[in-house]
Amino acid sequence: MPPPRTERSPALILRSVDFGESDRILHLLVPDGGRLTAIAKGARRSQKRFAGTLDLFNELRVQIHRRRGHGMSRIDGAVLVRHHAALRTDPVRFALGCYLLELLDRLAPEGGAARDTRRLFRFALDAFAALAAHPPDAVLRTILELRALDALGMRPELRRCVGCGEELSSVQDVHFHIADGGAVCGACALRRTGLLPVQLGTLRALERALALEVGQLGRLVLSPRALEDARRVVYRFLRFHVGVELQSQRFLDRMLAARAPSAGNPRVVSV
Ligand SMILES: [Zn+2]
Repeated sequence: MPPPRTERSPALILRSVDFGESDRILHLLVPDGGRLTAIAKGARRSQKRFAGTLDLFNELRVQIHRRRGHGMSRIDGAVLVRHHAALRTDPVRFALGCYLLELLDRLAPEGGAARDTRRLFRFALDAFAALAAHPPDAVLRTILELRALDALGMRPELRRCVGCGEELSSVQDVHFHIADGGAVCGACALRRTGLLPVQLGTLRALERALALEVGQLGRLVLSPRALEDARRVVYRFLRFHVGVELQSQRFLDRMLAARAPSAGNPRVVSV
């Protein structure tokens, strides 16, 4: 049987766990393949092969023996393409970055269509860039959560009613249904329970948040009320898909609360 093929691939580290005396087990995100688990043998000893590259928020090019099926892949070397230093030097950026990595580690598929996994990898790089470029606040958190869901193929329906398909208009009462995956018009709301209130303007702002380029995200301004609306809808939708509270969430909540501007400005709300 021929030995497994060695490939070179761009990669990001989603999770890193020390294993044995000198190895490390990594959850990687790669453009062709989504999430994969790989062992880096001797990673804590070998300066030659890894040279301090295997840290969170490093964009890498790895040399990998990829196993199909149940076997664990193996990383034989890694070079640093780019390190996103801003995410390590600012504690709030770090907290939000770790939260997004944990989110991807939970929800990123193992395998899947290349178009989908490449889009997910692109999202992760865009998120690093956005975190470096914009103040890490509750607005940015909400935008990145929503964009993560979109990149994972879990985009909520924001423009049309998930019940009847009608485009929502400003004359209607608008609601949001988590399990049904999006907005609900006033008429369809009468036949549903478990609805969340939401303003149409908030849904429009969230649509804009999905459409903007990374460098333009600072243009999205949310009033305190819209932010509260958006946090409620996006957080609960995310939680529905993740199923559990992410371990990094409380740390992020604390860091954002400590950094939140004084009263009168957008604020962190509990959901
Ligand atoms: Zn409807």
